[in-house]
Amino acid sequence: MSDLFIVIAMIYSVLCALITAAIAVNKGRNNIAWAFAGLFFGLIALVIIALIPQHTQRWTCSKCGEKNKLKDDICDNCGTKR
Ligand SMILES: [Zn+2]
Repeated sequence: MSDLFIVIAMIYSVLCALITAAIAVNKGRNNIAWAFAGLFFGLIALVIIALIPQHTQRWTCSKCGEKNKLKDDICDNCGTKR
């Protein structure tokens, strides 16, 4: 094991952490947690964050409790306005 190998491994880990965190932010997920996952698991974390679906934020209807998409102003279930 040379020093060069350790340096390359560290750069690789940091790069994976940065890319994983960037994808996580795009998907509305916790960037710090995913940065650490990328740091320790490298490509595995990168592939997982690339594959999991977008975390869509929703608002809860005050009348029926239905979770609605943010872009909709009217409840899907009962038609109550947000
Ligand atoms: Zn509703």
